[in-house]
Amino acid sequence: MYSYANKRIRIREETPTLRSHDFDEIIHPYSPIEAIREAERCNQCALPYCIEACPISQDCRGYVTLISQGKFDEAAKTVLFANPMASSLCKACYHYCETACIRGNRGLPVAIRHLKRAALEYGDSDLEYASAARLGFQVAVIGGGPAGIMAAWELALRGYSVTVFEQDSQFGGQMGAIPRYRLDGSELEKDMHRLRGLDIRFHTGRKAGTDFTPESLLKEGYEAVYVAIGTSAHRELGIPGEEKPGVYPALEFLKEANRGAPPEVGKRVVVVGGGDVAMDAARTSLRLTNGGQVVVAYRRTREEMPAEKEEIKETVDEGIEFLYLAAPLEIRGKDRVEGVVFQKMKLSEPDASGRRSPVPIPGEEEFVPCDSVIAAVGQKADMIGFSRELGLAAGSQGAPEGKLPGFSTGVEGVFASGGKSIVFAMAAATKAAEAIDAYVSRKHGLSPHPRPHPFGDRESVPVPSGYTGPSWHF
Ligand SMILES: Cc1cc2nc3c(=O)[nH]c(=O)nc-3n(C[C@H](O)[C@H](O)[C@H](O)COP(=O)(O)OP(=O)(O)OC[C@H]3O[C@@H](n4cnc5c(N)ncnc54)[C@H](O)[C@@H]3O)c2cc1C
Repeated sequence: MYSYANKRIRIREETPTLRSHDFDEIIHPYSPIEAIREAERCNQCALPYCIEACPISQDCRGYVTLISQGKFDEAAKTVLFANPMASSLCKACYHYCETACIRGNRGLPVAIRHLKRAALEYGDSDLEYASAARLGFQVAVIGGGPAGIMAAWELALRGYSVTVFEQDSQFGGQMGAIPRYRLDGSELEKDMHRLRGLDIRFHTGRKAGTDFTPESLLKEGYEAVYVAIGTSAHRELGIPGEEKPGVYPALEFLKEANRGAPPEVGKRVVVVGGGDVAMDAARTSLRLTNGGQVVVAYRRTREEMPAEKEEIKETVDEGIEFLYLAAPLEIRGKDRVEGVVFQKMKLSEPDASGRRSPVPIPGEEEFVPCDSVIAAVGQKADMIGFSRELGLAAGSQGAPEGKLPGFSTGVEGVFASGGKSIVFAMAAATKAAEAIDAYVSRKHGLSPHPRPHPFGDRESVPVPSGYTGPSWHF
């Protein structure tokens, strides 16, 4: 057994100076031997906190153990048992498992996400999912993001015929905005290729609310409809000048950059916002300005920034500047953006919950010249064309949801959910898919169908020993 159990095997990444000029991937995978060494650090806890912290209850301990034994094929299969989007998640997951890893109490947690990547890189990961016997029931899914894809997988495995309607020309939802230095674009293709044996039809360019509605799909003969439309519309800054050429919503900006057609940003960019999307927009802008200047403006201080600490550090390391305690007042410019006027702010005394709000300092303003502005102040669902009867409302994770436990809406047979991250969206989809299966089965006098073995084997997938249930709740 490797003796330096508290010392994580170093993850190789590009230096800030090199990486900030192009969109090449920053993180390099472990070599097989490095992966085995890192996997040997796993404590093999009798109570698997990592599995309980994972929204889709992946058997992290199981695949880490297999890697420590050099069994990469078996590790890849274990990863893919519960995770049909593993190629994407092995690079982009927020790794809730690692936060729960007890190795993190004294040193760095086991690099579980990185080991997942090793399993898929060095093991046979081009497996094909197989469905149980066809049930002869059709279900429609609206939205081709992680929640929609996960629900399609869950239902098709059970033998349903699934049709996914996506408004965009590409699948992946917000994942399509994750910059190429984190996801190079090939990952979703690999994930979707494993679905090739399932009865799923994918349609792009079909928008619910315009081309059809959940109710019209029910009338067409679908037994149930799952609405997984996420948060694809941007929140506006709500200030004068926002309509000027050179102002871009972050989500669209990032998707266009990934598709090789970024808008013209010039040499100086101001990004407004303090979340992960703002960091991605700033770092993408920096790469597009070719040595220009990027400023992130946020109305509170670095301590209150909602972005992941790791993301903020990487953004700072790349040379992006931060303007704290600044709220945008007006975007100025004649024919296009020439700069932003910011109201200087201060933090109030803590309220009862201990939270300090930003309040304006009267008369203190600052003009920041720039060629473009990227608004990264949040997203919301576009629910235009969805009926009031559905009762869709943004849930705690932002996306429109039905009611718990199964995310059913006000219209019988229609379910809705989504998530604050890829893996939470997948977990929300699993819950909805189970409810859809229970609903359709009940309607036809059948028992619900538990998720069958995803590779068509006879035996069922065993529950990891010591697993007591998820440590999180919707
Ligand atoms: C820039 C950025 C970076 C991110 N980075 C990470 C990360 O590193 N790790 C992580 O875990 N999460 C990350 N996230 C969050 C993650 O991508 C989302 O939480 C996740 O995609 C939500 O999945 P979803 O399926 O619920 O919704 P979405 O991804 O929003 O998918 C909804 C889909 O429905 C489609 N749709 C919407 N309305 C309609 C309609 N009327 N008809 C038909 N189709 C419709 C949309 O086009 C979209 O494809 C990031 C998000 C962004 C924006």
